[in-house]
Amino acid sequence: MRIFAGRFETERTYIMIKPDGVQRGYVGEIIARFERKGNVLKGLKTFQCPKAVAEEHYQDLSEKPFFGDLVEYICSGPVVCMVWEGPGVVKSARKMIGATNPLESEPGTIRGDLGAFYALVGRNVIHGSDSNESAEREIALWFGGDDELVDWTPTITPWTRE
Ligand code: UDP
Ligand code: MG
Repeated sequence: MRIFAGRFETERTYIMIKPDGVQRGYVGEIIARFERKGNVLKGLKTFQCPKAVAEEHYQDLSEKPFFGDLVEYICSGPVVCMVWEGPGVVKSARKMIGATNPLESEPGTIRGDLGAFYALVGRNVIHGSDSNESAEREIALWFGGDDELVDWTPTITPWTRE
C-alpha cells in the first residue's frame, strides 16, 4: 500500500546493522532512533550472511579494490536485517546514517556518533539503501519473501498524519 503523508510518499527501505554494530552492542540504540523518527518496523532478523549474498548486495562495487575486504567484513559475524517503512524513509534514513566515512559523518548521525571510533572507512556500523530501486532489490535479497515481513499499521497512525 502506498499512501501519501503530506508531500512524502510512504515507502520502504532496507537497513542493516553491520557486524561491528552488532558486536559493539548498538542494535537497541539504532532501532530506537528509527522508531523515534516515526518509522514502522516491517521486518527484523539476525542473520549470518553467506558470501554469495554479500557479493550480490554489493555487486555495484565488485570492481573496487576494497570489495574482497568488504564482503569478508559483512560475513565476519551476525548482521541485523530490517525493513523500515515511513514517509520519505529512504532519504531520511541516509541522513540519519551519515556519510560513508565515519570520520567525515556529522555528529548526530548514526555513523558520526557511533562510528567515529574507527579510522577505517569500511567499518561504519550500518547500511541503508540509496534509492527506492535499491531498497526493493535489497529487501528481496535479504528477506526470504513476504512471509518474513508483516504488513501492519500502528494504531497511532491517524494521530500522526495530516
Ligand atoms: N567501503 C569501504 N571502503 C571505501 C568505500 C566504501 O570499505 O573506500 C565500504 C563501506 O563499508 C561502505 C560500503 O563499502 O559502507 C558501501 O560503499 P558505499 O559507497 O555504497 O557507501 P554507503 O552507501 O554505505 O554510505
Ligand atoms: Mg551504498
